[in-house]
Amino acid sequence: MKHIAILGSSGSIGTQALEVVELHPDKFCVEVLTVNSNAELLIQQAKKFKPNAVVIVDETKYQFVKDALQHDLIKVYTGESALEQIVQMDSIDIILTALVGYVGLKPTIAAIKAKKNIALANKETLVVAGKLVTQLAQENGVNIYPVDSEHSAIFQCLAGEWNNKIEKIYLTASGGPFLGKDISYLETVKKEQALKHPNWTMGAKITIDSATLMNKGLEVIEAKWLFVLTPEQIDVIVHPQSIIHSIVQFEDGSMKAQMGLPDMKLPIQYALGFPERLKSDFPRFDFLKNPQLTFLKPDMSTFRNLALAYEAMRICGNMPCVINAANEVAVDAFLKDKISFLNITDVIEKCLEKIFLIQNPTLSDYIETNSETRKMALEMVSNLKS
Ligand code: MN
Repeated sequence: MKHIAILGSSGSIGTQALEVVELHPDKFCVEVLTVNSNAELLIQQAKKFKPNAVVIVDETKYQFVKDALQHDLIKVYTGESALEQIVQMDSIDIILTALVGYVGLKPTIAAIKAKKNIALANKETLVVAGKLVTQLAQENGVNIYPVDSEHSAIFQCLAGEWNNKIEKIYLTASGGPFLGKDISYLETVKKEQALKHPNWTMGAKITIDSATLMNKGLEVIEAKWLFVLTPEQIDVIVHPQSIIHSIVQFEDGSMKAQMGLPDMKLPIQYALGFPERLKSDFPRFDFLKNPQLTFLKPDMSTFRNLALAYEAMRICGNMPCVINAANEVAVDAFLKDKISFLNITDVIEKCLEKIFLIQNPTLSDYIETNSETRKMALEMVSNLKS
């Protein structure tokens, strides 16, 4: 029985993880649930899954949650720093980090220091501070199991291949809702269009990132750290059907791919259940019903975010932290109709130009870079009109 903590249980990954837990009550139990501010859902989840403790980060909702759970023998904590403390709980075996964005960094570091294995859904943590986080994991003997579907695919392809060198990997990309569109079309798109992903059901931030191809850019950087690769070893290929989730090419020229219908419950379950494959009745892919699997080159001159992410990865240092922070601010502004779709890239590019490079950043350098970049990006946003 694995005792699981889910950081971010009200989001898309968090709720799907609870579905996985429900499907395997003999394998998993919930030890901790945390949400940012969705108190109603947290209460509902807590009453159903009976965790040991919950965190409601939003302090204004603490009393409401505490009152609702007072007869359930569930401890209730609040505040940002509660996340860093709760991950150290002795009874936790594995922590699913399903927070969105930079806020995942500190709790993940605290969890690694407490020697907890991580099921990583919060890719921004590795984008911001991949070197530091992976080093820390190694020092503490902690495993980081990827939940991101592409990285789960690579990880699955590498099972039994630990001593064989990777020649390169191909991360597949659906291309998002604007695949094949040109700049003049993108000039006028609104969030309602950008939020309609063709294959995957996901949260708002990652869905916009998919539409701009920044999601693939963040994933390229995530892959570099997870699988210890150089930028030249990581390629992106657009595969609109999202059936092949990624590919590893070995030194003998052999390629292994992992396939299946797009359903995040599969990589979540693989990460939580590793090394075991648990039985599921998720729908199966049928070759004859879908005989066409196609592949295209990503259009990096229209969707420049992917090119910017590659550039940040090559320069490295604090530059991936810069693109992440600028992107978080820009996407938030786009979701609030403050800037246009193409402005997202403008904001990221300007921050990348202006923020000073630190080649070997410490944790406090990352914290500083993040807040400096956010300030700069917010200023740009307020000078732009949508
Ligand atoms: Mn992904």
